[in-house]
Amino acid sequence: MQTLLGRESTYKEGIDLLIAFRKEMFGQITQIVNGYPEEAFWQMPYANADGYHSKTLAYSIWHIFRIEDIVAHTLIANDEQVFFRGGYQARIGSPISTTGNELQGEEIASFSKMDILALYDYAKAVMFSVDELLQGLDYAGMKRKFTEADKERIAASGCVSTDGRAAWLIDYWCGKDVRGLIKMPFSRHWIMHVEAMRRIKNKLCRDARRGVDPVAYCGLSCNHCFLTEWCGSCRTKYNTCSYATIFEDRRCPNAACCQEKGLDGCYECPELESCTKGFYEPGNDGANAARAQAMFIRKYGKNALLKVHDRLHERYDFAKSQEILGQDAYKGLKMLEDEYMALRDGKANPS
Ligand code: SF4
Ligand code: SF4
Repeated sequence: MQTLLGRESTYKEGIDLLIAFRKEMFGQITQIVNGYPEEAFWQMPYANADGYHSKTLAYSIWHIFRIEDIVAHTLIANDEQVFFRGGYQARIGSPISTTGNELQGEEIASFSKMDILALYDYAKAVMFSVDELLQGLDYAGMKRKFTEADKERIAASGCVSTDGRAAWLIDYWCGKDVRGLIKMPFSRHWIMHVEAMRRIKNKLCRDARRGVDPVAYCGLSCNHCFLTEWCGSCRTKYNTCSYATIFEDRRCPNAACCQEKGLDGCYECPELESCTKGFYEPGNDGANAARAQAMFIRKYGKNALLKVHDRLHERYDFAKSQEILGQDAYKGLKMLEDEYMALRDGKANPS
């Protein structure tokens, strides 16, 4: 993208690539906003770390888009920021209008208790307005530099704190040309903070799962699931199983059904073999594998399933259990049983 932006003949292509990349990264923010419970947005699981992941999910979103809004509108376009135009401070419920760089420790956590959906709306509005601005730039405009008057305008906006942890931003932005600003803050800045968000939410999921039954209601093993970094288990508030998140109430139908029936999992249900609810829906590519595992648990218990999973992962290279158990629920069950018998008999392979 940087190379394309550097040549007049290709810079338009560079802008298109940049916008596509921003869209892709924004998709990660959307998944986090849609998937995680409200409390996740003000947790600081790496509070004492040295790095962007020492902040919160809410702070990360706020910081990316406040900076982008200030740079795009107050500095480059010299028009009104989306933040003020849309009355977002009141909608979000934020006590500040600055970038947040000046906040520290507990201040970050308490600042983060804001309206996350309003913050998300703001982020999206800023992204679209900046995409539009980028599309309108001509090649000569990419080399535009900034003046003392530009610096004074940003300072006068009050959107950058005079605290030493923030005040340097004005010189930093104004020391670049527009092409430099495309990197920071319109692309690289996103990468840094989206990566930090990924680390924060992964840690929150790991913490949520600590001490929780590692077998999901449907019979899958959360310890061996390919979504193990993403999902905090259907037995916690961090139930961001990709299946649960497709439903409006963000609850997997199997988890909801088990809870209603007072069952520990579908493996306790007499309807298991014929059930077509939720994950067992015909056509769902994980249905047979999950059912096979639930049937196995019913016969041999959860610990046996976890042991067999360890062994399967040693013997085969697969990410999703349906890759080896998914053909048919009964064949999947047979494979699990064969591995379990071999394990019990101390054999390397099932006979
Ligand atoms: S997706 Fe399902 S099996 Fe995987 S970690 Fe989440 S609840 Fe557990
Ligand atoms: S009816 Fe289906 S989803 Fe409900 S507990 Fe039984 S097996 Fe699970």
